[in-house]
Amino acid sequence: MAKLIGILGGTFDPVHIGHLRLGLEIREQFKLDEIRFIPLNIPPHRAAPVAGSEHRFNMLQAAIRDLDGFVVDDREINRDEVSWTIDTVRSLRSDYPHQPLCLLMGEDAFATLDSWRSWQELADYVHIILAGRPLEQPIEYSAPVRSFYDARVVPASDMPGKRTCGHICRAEMPVLNVSSTRLRQLYAGGRSTDFLVPPGVHEYIISHKLYT
Ligand code: ATP
Repeated sequence: MAKLIGILGGTFDPVHIGHLRLGLEIREQFKLDEIRFIPLNIPPHRAAPVAGSEHRFNMLQAAIRDLDGFVVDDREINRDEVSWTIDTVRSLRSDYPHQPLCLLMGEDAFATLDSWRSWQELADYVHIILAGRPLEQPIEYSAPVRSFYDARVVPASDMPGKRTCGHICRAEMPVLNVSSTRLRQLYAGGRSTDFLVPPGVHEYIISHKLYT
């Protein structure tokens, strides 16, 4: 049977329990074999990360050390250029020609999709699983994103199905209101971050003085 792979890209500056729960919930709900965390190198649409790529990679390694089915992928940090998602999914598809690949994405990220490079081609390489946020106001999509979505949406129960790419669905999962921005603020203010980051990540941050 083909291995089912989920992909979670991000800055992970630092990784936190919101990222880990997202991976875990989606892995269980869609019976994925693997969640592949891919830290970016140079972000296309935001300021450079505070922590360097090697530190962000090491923090992810510390976060998933004892978790089955979670892996960290260094392909973006090894590319010395802007981290466009289309390049990453093309590279993953060449590594895994026949497997279903599911790109996990927050709905807020999906709403900005039409600013991503070659965004309409993403569906030629991956399925997209949106982290649904039932308690929040629905996000307005632009007309191009809306028609991209409408043409591909399927019920979550049909995902990933027999196809290896091309579908979009919404996952239902509770939202944890934690972000890397807030964590950086807590560290900078000398406040406690207990229960928001795994202990191994916290120790790494303190020993390398990453956010103070
Ligand atoms: P920052 O505050 O620096 O913008 P962030 O906490 O949003 O960072 P990213 O590394 O940018 O973290 O996020 C990577 C992916 O994880 C994105 O798809 C984002 O939507 C998702 N994500 C981040 N935080 C959460 C959360 N608390 N619950 C669910 N998904 C999340």
